Amino acid sequence: MTRTHRLGIDRIACDGRGLCAELLPELIALDEWGYPILHDTAVSEALLTHARRAVAACPVLALRLERATRD
Ligand code: SF4
Repeated sequence: MTRTHRLGIDRIACDGRGLCAELLPELIALDEWGYPILHDTAVSEALLTHARRAVAACPVLALRLERATRD
């Protein structure tokens, strides 16, 4: 069993400022309107610190990082 983390976006709360894509371009891109698109929801250990920083920087708390358990 492996613990991993997953990114999620509250699309109703997100106002599309795009800060998360600047801080975590490895996992987040912006669509043509400036709203985030996740390349992958699974966050590797190598990107965990950057992902936490992006979550903390979201001005409307729309980006979240959840623990997930994989068998
Ligand atoms: S930083 Fe937050 S509000 Fe801005 S685009 Fe990302 S999820 Fe949306």
